[in-house]
Parts: sequence; C-alpha cells; structure tokens
Amino acid sequence: MIDTHCHFDMMPKPEAYIREKEQIGDIVIGMTNLPSHFRLGIPFVKAFKHIRLALGLHPLLAADNIIETNLFREYIDQTSYIGEIGLDFSKASVGNKDLQISVFRDVLATLKGKRKIVSVHSRKAEKELFALLCEYDIKNVVFHWYSGPTDLISEILSKGYYFSINESMTLSMHGRSIIDMIPRNRILTESDAPYNEKSDIKKTMASIQITEAEVFRNFSELLSRIR
Ligand SMILES: [Zn+2]
Repeated sequence: MIDTHCHFDMMPKPEAYIREKEQIGDIVIGMTNLPSHFRLGIPFVKAFKHIRLALGLHPLLAADNIIETNLFREYIDQTSYIGEIGLDFSKASVGNKDLQISVFRDVLATLKGKRKIVSVHSRKAEKELFALLCEYDIKNVVFHWYSGPTDLISEILSKGYYFSINESMTLSMHGRSIIDMIPRNRILTESDAPYNEKSDIKKTMASIQITEAEVFRNFSELLSRIR
C-alpha cells in the first residue's frame, strides 16, 4: 500500500511504526510540519528503503515560524518530497492570512524549478493556493484531503496535479462528490495519521474500488516525472 501523506513523526513511536511498514513493504511518505522537524527526523529515516521524509512548513505554524524559511532553503536538496505546505483560511487561522501567504511565497520561490513531489494543504484557500502554484509554475503537486469547491477540480487536473484520498473523504457526501470527479489515474491514497481519525487505506481503496496495483501505477507515473 502507498501512504502519500502521513505524519509518523507525530506518533508516540515513529520508529516502530515505520519499521513495521517497511517490513510489510508499504511505501510511506512522512510529512513534517516544520523544517526543524525534518532536520531532527532525516537521520533516522535515511536507513529505510520504502519510507521517505518530506520537508514541510505547515500553514498553521507558518506565521509563528517565519524564521524557518531559512531552514527550508537549507534542506531543500536533501529530499525529493515536500510537505506539508500550503494555506489554511479556516476560521481559526484566517487572521494571519497575509503572513501565511508571504511564508508560502517564500517556500514556492525556493521550490521553483526543482524536481520535487509536493503535498499541499488547501483548506478554505483552494483558489488562492492554486493561483500561487500556477504563478510559480510548481509541478508534481498532490492535493491532500481536498475539500474545496468542485468547480476548481478540472483546472487542478489540467495542470497534471494529483489528489490523495483518505477514508474520511470516502465517508462524507462532499468528499464523495469530489472523488467522483477525479479520473482514476490521478488518485493516490493517504492516511494523514495520526491527525485523521478515519485513516484506513485498505478501506479507502475498497470504498472507491481502486486496486493497490492502480495506485502503485499512479504513484510510479508521478515518480517518473522527477527522475
Ligand atoms: Zn497532514
């Protein structure tokens, strides 16, 4: 199985978790919420074959950690995976919208022209985020847990972007209407564990009737673009 968006560094026993996944043969991309977390985690993850650590700067932490953009620049060449980055304009965080945008612009300027796979958080900021990705010509983007307007989906697809789907999405009406609009070859799977209470990838695949082989093919296609 493939988990393209997991936060194993936030679990009580990250090493035990990824060791088990490695043994099963699962592919897991671990997000980080700050570059300083990436710096802490990368020495441990490097020894694994199927587990990767992504360099991230989470929108909900961006405003209080502007200084971390320096570390983002410093570590950019140590991984092919970026996340979690993005924007969040939901009630609790829309107050620092402008700061979020300025940090995100800094991150995108660093990313521009680099061959990376990028997992984005877009809650209540989908249109603004998409416009910025286009402005900086960012490629190989995966929209994680997309919950935005359905009328933006075809534009997102036209840029060659992917969507990572989790179990919670399959259990909500809006989530299902989103999933129905995504062609099967642009679907990836994710857990968003431990933040997501419904994070079972097997159940997700069963619910949307996609096979492990199909998701693997989609992931391989995305990977081939950065090689
Ligand atoms: Zn996440």
